[in-house]
Amino acid sequence: MANILKGKVVADSIKENIKENVLKLKAEGISPTLGILRVGKNPDDIAYERSILKNCENVGINGVVYEVKEDITTEELVNKLNILNNDANIHGILIFRPLPKHIDEKLISNTINPLKDVDCMNPLNLEKIFEGNTDGFAPCTPKAAMKILEYYDIPLEGANAVVVNRSMVVGKPLSMMLLSKNATVTICHSRTKNLSKLTNEADIVVTALGRAKFFDEEYFNENSTVIDVGISLDEQGKICGDVNTEIVSNIAKNVTPVPGGVGSVTTSILLSHVIVAINNLK
Ligand code: NAP
Repeated sequence: MANILKGKVVADSIKENIKENVLKLKAEGISPTLGILRVGKNPDDIAYERSILKNCENVGINGVVYEVKEDITTEELVNKLNILNNDANIHGILIFRPLPKHIDEKLISNTINPLKDVDCMNPLNLEKIFEGNTDGFAPCTPKAAMKILEYYDIPLEGANAVVVNRSMVVGKPLSMMLLSKNATVTICHSRTKNLSKLTNEADIVVTALGRAKFFDEEYFNENSTVIDVGISLDEQGKICGDVNTEIVSNIAKNVTPVPGGVGSVTTSILLSHVIVAINNLK
């Protein structure tokens, strides 16, 4: 049976570290604050926001929500964002994406202060990931996947890693992060031929398709470490990942669960970035 690489212990260890830092900062008179800029009332954004605020409270970070109307213009949103950029009491800024279609998302990404950009929206931070420069902010989901690998001591140096996703939010930055740890990385996507051959030859497979229980035993072997980033609903409407965990856990060496895997670490990473931002801004 595979080891189930649960995210909660990883998230808890990150949160403990955040709590210690929050106490130190509060003793210095700094009250760590995350500003959340939400456009409209998208239910997914509101659900994620609720979970972030709960976690903020848990670690002693202030979470402040700035809701703006769905039909806000790009110019008005830039102005709102600049207020947060220039507010010394706001240390990290999160903007839910995707933004409504009429908003120039590229302009918004370029406007967010890179020093407060806790979810790596600004291309300047993304560029650093591609340069192997760890000074900036990594996108939270790929970093959560990396933290799980690190926490469970999965060797990366020289390992064959297959990433099944080539998006800018998951696959591309994650591939660069694995590369910077000296893994040999193969990026797969919907046009990849013989996917199961490639995943079977890998030591580590990270999946982020968004297709419920797509990966079965055919894709893995007894040495596979499988990190499942996908989030979908199964036939019963329950949250599940890309991996059919019931079957794959009989075959693979290590598997992350969904829910309770990568997703459960993502918010902790986001909050740890608020602490980094404070140090950036000092
Ligand atoms: P996306 O842009 O749709 O990317 C999906 C990727 O999967 C694409 O690269 C696509 O290839 C590839 N793909 C689709 N079908 C495939 C197939 N049959 N074989 C091989 N590759 C295939 O989605 P995303 O925004 O990156 O998100 C991916 C998943 O991660 C979603 O389930 C999302 O909910 C989840 N997610 C989770 C978190 C978290 O915190 N856990 C955060 C963000 C996203 P092409 O490029 O060729 O289309």
